[in-house]
Amino acid sequence: MFFNGLIHLLNIRFKPQIDLPMKTTANVFSNRDITVTYEPYVCTNAERCARELSNVFRNSVIPWIDLDGDSTEKIIRQVKKCPSGALKFSYNNVNNEVA
Ligand code: SF4
Repeated sequence: MFFNGLIHLLNIRFKPQIDLPMKTTANVFSNRDITVTYEPYVCTNAERCARELSNVFRNSVIPWIDLDGDSTEKIIRQVKKCPSGALKFSYNNVNNEVA
């Protein structure tokens, strides 16, 4: 599937050539309420996010995460379902609230 190919491409692109302990750089996406990070090393490619919220987690468009694709509440629910922990979110304001 194309999504697997995209994740595989991201994994290749961001993988170090040698096995040294190394900090990875997460992909970072924000809307006015939250910031979502994606860690390609951690993703298990289960495609759950793309299957269940395809307007946000897109498999044929770069950038592949579009936080304007659905409500912040739905995005948060979907991020919490990520089985690997590759997706994480944080609120943009100190009160941990959606505007
Ligand atoms: S739900 Fe998580 S583990 Fe599954 S494809 Fe999306 S980011 Fe990767």
